[in-house]
Amino acid sequence: MKDETRVVVVGCGPAGLMAATVLSQAGLSVDIFDTKASAGCKFLVAGRGGLNLTHAEHAEPFAARYGNNAEIFSKLLADFSPDDLRAWLRGLGVETFIGTSGRVFPKDATAHNILKIWLETLAKRGVAFHYRHRWQGFTQTGAPLFLTETGETLEFPAKALLLALGGASWPQTGSDGSWTSFLAAKGVLLEPFRPANCGVEVAWSEHFRTRFSGKPLKNLLLCCGDRQAIGDVVITAHGLEGGPVYALSAVIRDLLEQTRPAPLLLDLKRDITLERLQEKLEHPRGKESLANFLRKAIHLTGPAYSLLHEICTPEDLKNPTILAGRIKNLPVSIINTRPLAEAISSAGGVTFPEVDANLMLHKMPGVFVAGEMLDWEAPTGGYLLQGAFSTGYQAAQGLLKWLGHTPSPQPLSPDS
Ligand SMILES: Cc1cc2nc3c(=O)[nH]c(=O)nc-3n(C[C@H](O)[C@H](O)[C@H](O)COP(=O)(O)OP(=O)(O)OC[C@H]3O[C@@H](n4cnc5c(N)ncnc54)[C@H](O)[C@@H]3O)c2cc1C
Repeated sequence: MKDETRVVVVGCGPAGLMAATVLSQAGLSVDIFDTKASAGCKFLVAGRGGLNLTHAEHAEPFAARYGNNAEIFSKLLADFSPDDLRAWLRGLGVETFIGTSGRVFPKDATAHNILKIWLETLAKRGVAFHYRHRWQGFTQTGAPLFLTETGETLEFPAKALLLALGGASWPQTGSDGSWTSFLAAKGVLLEPFRPANCGVEVAWSEHFRTRFSGKPLKNLLLCCGDRQAIGDVVITAHGLEGGPVYALSAVIRDLLEQTRPAPLLLDLKRDITLERLQEKLEHPRGKESLANFLRKAIHLTGPAYSLLHEICTPEDLKNPTILAGRIKNLPVSIINTRPLAEAISSAGGVTFPEVDANLMLHKMPGVFVAGEMLDWEAPTGGYLLQGAFSTGYQAAQGLLKWLGHTPSPQPLSPDS
């Protein structure tokens, strides 16, 4: 029998939609709101670069990806694990596969297909979608308040409220972080939003910027402090972008915030030892240009050579020992991270001490929070979406318990 208790979810991203999935499966009447004209805008953006849904890593290293929040995520991931996510997707008709790096992707479906099936399933269960409704805080009686597209305010009393409003990167997808003032007004402690998984800025010379923007630097080892990352990097007009840069961006950001220099060391030839490199560079090069000599001797690409030229002094380039050292350890001075709006994700938001184990706000009983609006960060690799799904699941289960309902069974099935 359908329970007529009305609950409100705000935010049609992965966290909010997962929460609506759990709540509707338990038989509750769910109204879900979003400020945008359609659901899952950021999820669709994530799909453009190959939708990396989660990762096949074991539980312990997986939870460690959430840094200071590893312990909290270890519990969240145990309750809704990467395997649970894959089983649920299978129930929706979406098979997944594990790529060579351990990253999990949909086999045949696009983000668009997945979202379409998901929304249809929720609509069939009676979930009511209210688009173009911007959450604006609470009425005096605690009911959620929305601004409609016609400029009217709508009060929508509910037994419980689940907020999944996202972080503050890519504001064009709807998650613009403007909700913070409404929770701050209720005394909820928030950390300011900061860019995570973002590019970095370098003060390139005009010559280097104009000639090499968009050029790749292949198979590098990047180091900052005690952190390392391997992969391909792209030179941009502003600095550097790419997987290994994103992986180190939190460390770089934290150093810059402490007004400490954030030296990034690049190993341009990680497949050759320093000793071997020195030997190769000590061969006489005759009349050959240094660029040609390095291309033939160690397969150094044009952009990598030009980067050496950009950073090293003429004396460095003349001395084979110093040059070998620079190739293995090229210091690039980072002046800033790219702005929050461009970052893949954000750090900051509602701090974990503000919520209980069910992700309910201590200061607002009956109000639950999930997804990137909570103050956690993780690298790319499927950890962000898994974090959104697991917190959405947990907050919804918490809401069910709070209303005295039996938690939803696992794995979630689209038909139950
Ligand atoms: C370019 C890019 C690529 C990415 N690729 C991947 C990837 O491959 N794998 C991965 O794991 N992660 C990826 N991510 C990150 C992932 O998309 C996010 O972590 C995830 O979408 C967060 O889910 P969420 O539900 O918490 O928030 P969101 O998806 O941001 O959803 C929040 C929703 O709340 C709505 N909202 C906000 N404020 C209000 C308001 N006041 N009133 C009403 N509605 C509001 C928004 O419109 C939005 O629909 C990528 C992100 C970007 C930008």
